[in-house]
Amino acid sequence: LLITFEGPDGAGKTSALTALLPRLQQRARQTIITTREPGGNPISEAIRRIILDPKNTAMDKRTEALLYAAARRQHITEKIRPALAAGKMVLCDRFVDSSLAYQGAGRGIGVAAVGKMNEFATELLTPDLTLYLDVPSAVGLQRIAAHRQTQNDRLDQEALSFHQKVRGEYLALAAADPQRIKTIDATQAPTTVVAACQQVITQTYPT
Ligand code: C5P
Ligand code: MG
Repeated sequence: LLITFEGPDGAGKTSALTALLPRLQQRARQTIITTREPGGNPISEAIRRIILDPKNTAMDKRTEALLYAAARRQHITEKIRPALAAGKMVLCDRFVDSSLAYQGAGRGIGVAAVGKMNEFATELLTPDLTLYLDVPSAVGLQRIAAHRQTQNDRLDQEALSFHQKVRGEYLALAAADPQRIKTIDATQAPTTVVAACQQVITQTYPT
């Protein structure tokens, strides 16, 4: 099973995933691994550093989209596919929906074009379930600002309007595919968000 976690910056995906893992492990029969995009293996983490380096202000938006897709491709072949083939449950922090929202809508390349490119990269590997952690852009940005000294990537420089486009696309994706994408109100307390994530997963895949 491939379960992905999506959401705007500051939604708390990474913290929720970290807290969720031991809870799921307690009752799961299969092995569970967590991973993240862009990254998850040495090649993709190297691509991540290029994408997020604040010095790379010259990066073209299509170059950026291609790098995300390249990182994803390597991540799938090296880590996700083998784990799925071994019967593991894979929890992934971000996946194709991030590219549709950030590069497609946020950067304005177009969701359809970015989708096409990712079909090439993923060979149509699609998550079984996606937890979309939703926060209003202003709330997400406030949370990011609160720990900015530790989080200094190129995206920190983006305006509120960029993040609003990203969130708007996430909401559109969730509305278009409610079967796969479950929306969770991530303005709630962290423990409530984690409990909601766990409930969606165990409801969808009772062990
Ligand atoms: O989720 P995480 O914080 O690791 O993402 C790192 C940065 O990359 C964030 O600023 C996020 O907005 C950005 N990103 C992006 N496009 C993607 C995935 C992540 O701009 N497809
Ligand atoms: Mg994060």
